[in-house]
Amino acid sequence: MKTEITNTWIEDKLNNGFQKEDLKSILTSSTKEAQLLYKAARKIRDEEFGKKAFIRAVVEFANSCRCSCLYCGMRLNNPDGIRFSLDHDELLEIAKKAYSNGIRTFFLQAAESESYGAQWLQSVIADIKDLGMGVLLCVGVHQESDLDLWREAGAYKFILKHETSDKELFQKMKPGFLLEDRIQWLKTLRSHGYHIGSGPLLGLPGQTLDSLVNDLFLLRDLEAEMSSVSVFLPAAGTPLENEPTGDPELGLRFIAAMRLFLKTTLIPATSTFERLLEDGQYKCFEAGANVITVNMTPQKLRDDYTIYSDRFYVGLEHARNTIKKAGLVETTEGELLSL
Ligand code: SF4
Repeated sequence: MKTEITNTWIEDKLNNGFQKEDLKSILTSSTKEAQLLYKAARKIRDEEFGKKAFIRAVVEFANSCRCSCLYCGMRLNNPDGIRFSLDHDELLEIAKKAYSNGIRTFFLQAAESESYGAQWLQSVIADIKDLGMGVLLCVGVHQESDLDLWREAGAYKFILKHETSDKELFQKMKPGFLLEDRIQWLKTLRSHGYHIGSGPLLGLPGQTLDSLVNDLFLLRDLEAEMSSVSVFLPAAGTPLENEPTGDPELGLRFIAAMRLFLKTTLIPATSTFERLLEDGQYKCFEAGANVITVNMTPQKLRDDYTIYSDRFYVGLEHARNTIKKAGLVETTEGELLSL
């Protein structure tokens, strides 16, 4: 018989712990049950962080990639992919603009390649840190020795999405790569002093609910300080271009499950939700999120950073309005975490 989710059930699980079948019940909850879960998730978020959220700025600075993930438009094997990279001064100008807009977390994102050197990135990080900003990296797997260079320059957080905890699906989606290695790299990042972030891509063809539950356990076992979920949207020119999109309503339940199960992790309201649902990012905050990322990749280049086609680009005004609509007060990451 299917579990009925009530406030008493949620309270009991919060006190005594969630088992796998409980998390599965959250993911398969009815609309009415989901409202109770979202309310409980907001309560946990507000108890842990206060009624606050922060904005970070992302710049996607290079899109050449040595990998060929089946879902990504920047894959090596996509002949239509236009390749770009930004230079040091361009990045610094963008960081200054973010700073002048009150943003204190700068997120440097790139596809996985050696097209930029480790020392070049080190000097970018150092200059952005000198502006008074925290630097977050999402640049894939590199030499282990690079991690110290970047950490010493001031990068303190690193995101590496594991995409799926299903070993076979991972290998199918990321040909030539192993889930074990990705998890090990997250542990390596931790051992070099980084706070780590990870999470799944929800809705990959062949993904199961059980694997999503395992994603939650993996995030818990990694003690990820940042946990996120993006919803699969097909990218043109990829083997998955004709596959259906993932289910954003399931994504919202996944956010609530992360908040209820992991409690103190930072959870972003990712752009895929806004692309798929009206007020999608507001709904993420309603389900327990507390971070939103504005896209500051130059207009002329960002359409070539094709993690999915026809992207929704989060602007500053939209981010601020969404936080306000969710009844939260904008703060900085440092204040939120009392760093
Ligand atoms: S998902 Fe990342 S690693 Fe995979 S092809 Fe795209 S940019 Fe490269």
